[in-house]
Amino acid sequence: MEVILAESLGFCYGVKRAIKIARESASADGTACTLGPIIHNPQMVAQLAEEGIGKVDDLSELDAGRIIIRSHGVGPNIYESAEEKGLELVDATCPHVRRAQMAAHELAEEGYRVVIIGEKRHPEVKSIVEWSGDQAVVVETEEEAEALGSIGRLGVVAQTTFSGEKFKSIIAILLDKSNDVRILRTICNATDQRQTAALSLAGEVDLMLVIGGKNSANTTRLAQLCAMKCQTYHIETAAELQDEWFDKINKIGITAGASTPDWVIKEVYQKCKNKT
Ligand code: SF4
Repeated sequence: MEVILAESLGFCYGVKRAIKIARESASADGTACTLGPIIHNPQMVAQLAEEGIGKVDDLSELDAGRIIIRSHGVGPNIYESAEEKGLELVDATCPHVRRAQMAAHELAEEGYRVVIIGEKRHPEVKSIVEWSGDQAVVVETEEEAEALGSIGRLGVVAQTTFSGEKFKSIIAILLDKSNDVRILRTICNATDQRQTAALSLAGEVDLMLVIGGKNSANTTRLAQLCAMKCQTYHIETAAELQDEWFDKINKIGITAGASTPDWVIKEVYQKCKNKT
């Protein structure tokens, strides 16, 4: 049995950076909390907790100390509240997310009606809505784009982890909604690279293992794409592997979401290799 890793997988630049910032910030005096899980990976969140990096879900849980903003970013009200409460804010927002937030903010300031192509419930998308002054509309599907009426000045940004193909297809519909359209394709390369590599590998193997948090949108998307090509399992750790998956399998492909730590990928790889 052959085990092949996707050419591009695992931690992206923004996640590596956020974890480094969190660790540096905690090592300054041993105390720091992230606002929400720093990334959508329970194993990494648990490891950071062991290193003294805690988590709060709301600023009301903190009266003093240091709060770390995760790579998904937050809306302007969090910066204001942290300042009012006298908290020290450490900003680990991924620069690509920051770019999408600022694009929405500037488009709104310039009088554009902002449409965000992305998943309504994703924290990053919620933060972009807030940076638009809460005026942006979120469109997730072609049907939702069709349902929009005509718009005077239309400004479009994307969730950084949105599918490039789906973005294109929704844009084709939005172009008919306005004669004054500005499009900022704020999808980050990490997502495109992981999706392209995963799809290509899934076309070559009998079975794909997609590793990452079950709460990670980009990992779930990788699993959906791979499932279009071959039998696919979305797992968080090597402990979930089941012997019967490997019956009559010659080639296994492995990929992992942008928030999956290297050590989790290595464990899965090693366990698969041991079966060969
Ligand atoms: S996937 Fe892209 S936008 Fe999201 S954290 Fe990683 S580098 Fe940043």
